Amino acid sequence: MHLFTKLKELIFREPVNKNVPQKAAAVLRIASIGIILYLLCMMVGVIFAKNPLLIAITLVLTSVYFYVFYITYEDKLRESLVLFNVASVFFVVLFYIVFGADIGVQGVVFVVVLVDLLLWRQHPMYTILVWYVIRIGLYIYGEYRPELFAFHDRIEAVFCVLSILLEALAVVFTGLYFTKDAFSMERRLQEYNKELEHVASTDPLTKIWNRFRMIEHVNRCVRRFNRSEMSFMSIAIGDIDFFKKFNDTYGHECGDKVLQSLAELFSKEMSGYGAIARWGGEEFLFLFENMNGDEAHTFLSKLQRKVNQMEIPYDNEILRVHMTFGLSEYDFGISLDDNIKIADDRLYKGKTTGRNCIIY
Ligand code: GH3
Ligand code: MG
Ligand code: MG
Repeated sequence: MHLFTKLKELIFREPVNKNVPQKAAAVLRIASIGIILYLLCMMVGVIFAKNPLLIAITLVLTSVYFYVFYITYEDKLRESLVLFNVASVFFVVLFYIVFGADIGVQGVVFVVVLVDLLLWRQHPMYTILVWYVIRIGLYIYGEYRPELFAFHDRIEAVFCVLSILLEALAVVFTGLYFTKDAFSMERRLQEYNKELEHVASTDPLTKIWNRFRMIEHVNRCVRRFNRSEMSFMSIAIGDIDFFKKFNDTYGHECGDKVLQSLAELFSKEMSGYGAIARWGGEEFLFLFENMNGDEAHTFLSKLQRKVNQMEIPYDNEILRVHMTFGLSEYDFGISLDDNIKIADDRLYKGKTTGRNCIIY
């Protein structure tokens, strides 16, 4: 268990340079360990072959993969990957020529393709092509030339199983490792998207919807009307009367407090009846869903009374606020802008005829 933990730590340890991707380094380390284990098993066969040159080459190759493993901790992932490829070409070709196809060494090609595809993503077709040329070249070579040293059938079978084991482990490991990450990344992206959506649609001061979000919502309501899921809708624009006075008398923070208090009242009162948004500086847009103009007028009159009754404590004083509203029943035959213009014109009329009223 202790050895396993140590190995895991070695494989997933961060490279010294933080710019080297830890994931890429881990893949290369695992592939190197796999091939080192495979080579150590092959060493038994090589000793059987009693060829000192081959024994020396296998030892050198094993050390090369150890070196590949080692330099993944440095700022040398690229060098490590190049060396991994060169060593693998040499190793596969040599062992195939010496021992033939029956030991299954050609399967290592797929492990290298997998590693290259994951780490060398700039030229995937190039990588695949090179390795397939090698693979097909070996096949053609094998068809015309016998191996230089033939093992007993049973030993060949053992080597073949080892090769299949190496391929299977490489595929399973990389598959699990990368999909696990892809899933958690997808989840994180979804959460981040939700957060972004919230930020993009919320007014930072009052925490109610902004203009952008309201337009989206009205368009959705229009689609509901087109599907006959809604029969009426009304809109109103409300503007605070003499709002500038709050800023001029008590300061900008006071104006902000008034806006926040109103927004709080509106979102509470509108809940279940429609939607509310901060339309501009001190203007609010109200959308009354499933309410014709008359119904919306009754509703808005009650809301206006609540605004007038509201007491906003500020700096040992109690502030009172009034608003003027322009209301119109939504005309689905014209655009949102034109509907807003009707409500806006009525608001303007209210401002010029005494304020603190609803013009409908
Ligand atoms: P009227 O009754 O004609 O609407 O008068 P008013 O003073 O409300 O209208 P005016 O358009 O002259 O002033 C609106 C002021 O609202 C001007 C601007 O400085 C202020 N304002 C806009 N956004 C904010 C905000 O986020 N916070 C604060 N404190 N003030 C704001
Ligand atoms: Mg205004
Ligand atoms: Mg105003």
